[in-house]
This record gives sequence, C-alpha cells and structure tokens, in this order.
Amino acid sequence: MIESNFIPVTKAAVSALGPENHGPIVFGKNPTDHMLQAVFSDNSWNSAEIVPFGNLMLSPLSLCLHYGQTVFEGFKAYRQAAGGVSIFRMEKHFQRINRSLYRMGMPELPERLFMQGIRQLVELEKDWVPLDLDASLYIRPFVFASEPKLGVKGANEYRFMVVCMPMGKYYDQNVRVKIETGFVRAVEGGTGGAKCGGNYAAAILPTQLANREGYDQLIWTDAIHHEYMEESGTMNLMFVIDGKLITPSLSGSILDGVTRDSILTIARDLGVPVEERKISYRELISAFEEGKEIEAFGVGTAAVISPIEKIGVNGRDYFPSVQEGCLFLTLKKQLQDIRTGLAPDRYGWNEIM
Ligand SMILES: *Cc1c(COP(=O)(O)O)cnc(C)c1O
Repeated sequence: MIESNFIPVTKAAVSALGPENHGPIVFGKNPTDHMLQAVFSDNSWNSAEIVPFGNLMLSPLSLCLHYGQTVFEGFKAYRQAAGGVSIFRMEKHFQRINRSLYRMGMPELPERLFMQGIRQLVELEKDWVPLDLDASLYIRPFVFASEPKLGVKGANEYRFMVVCMPMGKYYDQNVRVKIETGFVRAVEGGTGGAKCGGNYAAAILPTQLANREGYDQLIWTDAIHHEYMEESGTMNLMFVIDGKLITPSLSGSILDGVTRDSILTIARDLGVPVEERKISYRELISAFEEGKEIEAFGVGTAAVISPIEKIGVNGRDYFPSVQEGCLFLTLKKQLQDIRTGLAPDRYGWNEIM
C-alpha cells in the first residue's frame, strides 16, 4: 500500500513531460520531473524528500569521486493492460541493493525508505510511464559516499537517490559477443555479486578492445581457469543445448539477476529442464562442433532478453540460433505478458498501483 504523505514533496514548477516521452525515446537522458533523496549522517538515514530533478552540489573532496563507494539498482514500472501501473519485483531489488551496500561497507537502507519512497515517487510520475505496453519507466536508485574528507575508509556521510526515466519499446537487436579469456570481471570473494560502480568501470577497456574486433559485448570467464562462462556485459547468460536451459550457477562472482530468476521460474513452470551449473566455453564449442542447434542469450532488466547471434573465441566464430521458434522467444513473451498483466501473475511479481 502506498502511504502518499510519507516523504515530503516539493513539486516541480513546470513538467518536462511532452508527447515525445511516449514515442521513440532516447534512453538515459530524459529524467522525469522529480527525484528522491536522503542523507546518511550521524549513523542514520534522514532528510528524505522528493524534489524537482536537478544537479547536485558536491565537494570535490567527496569520497565517491576518489575511492568509488557507489552502488546502484535498476528496475521498471509498466502500464497494465487493464489500466494502472505496476512496479516489477521491487522487493528483490531492495534486498539486492542492501547486499551490495553491505559488501561495499556502506550503510544499508531501511525498507520503508526504499519501498515507500519509490512507490511515492512512481505515483507522482505516473504520467511518465509510456503508454505502449512494451515500453516502461526505468527506476534507478543509487547510493554514494558524499563525505568531503580525503582518506581511504568507510565514509560517515552518504546519499541515497532515486531518479526515473522513460524507456522506449525495446527492439530486439541480436548481439555479437567475444569470449574473453584474458581480462577478468570478477573473482570469487571479490565484488562481482555487488552492483557497484567499479565493476562497470573495469569492464570498459576490455569491451572497447572487443568492439574494435567487431563484437558488441564480452562473455566473461572465471578468473582462475579462464574457462567457465560467467556473464555477458551487464546481463546474465543462458544457453539452450539439447532442449535444456543452462545458466552459470551463482558463485559469488556473478550478479544475482532478477530477470535470471524470473526466466528460470517461468522455464521450470513450462516444463523446460533447467540446469544451474558451471559451463565451460569448451563444452559450448564441442556442442557447436557436433552440429547441435544452440541458443545463447543474455537476460537483464534493461533489454530483457538479448539474443546472441555470434560467439567468437580463439579467433573462430560460432552461430547460435536466433530464428522463429526459439525457446528464448517463448520465455521473453511470457515474462513480458506477466509484467503487463496480459498473463496471470501467479508469482505475485507485480505491485499494481
Ligand atoms: C544488473 C546486472 C544484471 C542483471 O540483473 P537484473 O536484476 O536482471 O537486471 C546482470 N549482470 C550484471 C553484471 C548486472 O549489473
């Protein structure tokens, strides 16, 4: 239930909402009118408020700018076929941001601040949720160290913020990926399971190098053997081999994706055999070399499912199936239908407001 007066609101004088925000939308640079913010100081979160979207004033000594204590989340609100707006699996994202914060030595967020704060913000920005059922309102909570005092240590001041932006209909675009066996993204015991900024910064150069070879993204392999596949870009990885849906098990170096969990749940319910286990790229290549039909795709909130049409490794390319009739298309449609209320939500994933 939404408590509409939980957080004080200062309304924007004018709205930036126009018809263009319901058409083709360039993602990432058209924020809604308001943002939520709160400050952690004296050992507690306080000063929560919803204010007009605007720039921040920060000291150049703010710790996040130097030592990288930053954590984020991403999830979506959808229009419902029967009217209304629903937020998808917010609680899972709340639990995950607190796990990320814990790993980064940052203060966890109170459930009420996160859940009620975001409900209230989305309620206020309801008109920004695109009318097209395939489009959505992207919700980006984040936390960073704002204490203005240099020195490598946990900060005693942090900011929590939530911004939202419309995201257009996602047109399926097949991706070409390269299996990376030199650089690593994460190692067990490291920060791969946390959604922290540094993981993404460290992935940029290896991705740029792969881009020059004609690949869009990397498939990261494990840090010890450089052999077991972990994730692709900012998505979890799935394969269909011999009718089985295979995904790397959560080892600590892989992010525990909510889309991953949703797709595995749907697949099991459809009677598809699911295996969560280590899978080496050599096993994948052997399956290709035996002439098997193989599907490969990434799953994550932003693009939902990204079909992989080409996988490069050690100078050779392999081509998974991406045509009609593939299992990933069935899984994707079922997930989208649950999110928009076109299929029954048997798992209680939608929070309709
Ligand atoms: C966010 C993210 C995912 C996908 O998680 P979802 O909860 O499905 O959006 C997968 N891998 C990485 C590295 C991520 O940052």
